[in-house]
Amino acid sequence: MDPQVAGTASRRSLYRRSAPVRRYALAQAAGICESCNQPALFVTLRGEPYLEPHHTRRFSDGGPDDRRFVGVVCPGCHREIHHGLHGPVKNERLVEAIRQKERDSDT
Ligand SMILES: [Zn+2]
Repeated sequence: MDPQVAGTASRRSLYRRSAPVRRYALAQAAGICESCNQPALFVTLRGEPYLEPHHTRRFSDGGPDDRRFVGVVCPGCHREIHHGLHGPVKNERLVEAIRQKERDSDT
């Protein structure tokens, strides 16, 4: 298989694996950014609040596909986490916020 095709296939399987976790995270977030705790900026054509899934641990670093490592955030927070000076701090706070939510939902 040529590398380009292999790349496409692995991205597709990544997407498939992530979908249930992403849906679960979106449902749990209930339209609120898990980083800044503000409501989603807009509602999509499908009638869902627009939030972006963010992997707090990158797959390339061996990060597991697990709710504990997937947050849903507004586009501004997502960009800041990836490109901002305080991105790493924001990312760690997000990890803690998800952990707290999972603890609350277990009780
Ligand atoms: Zn936000």
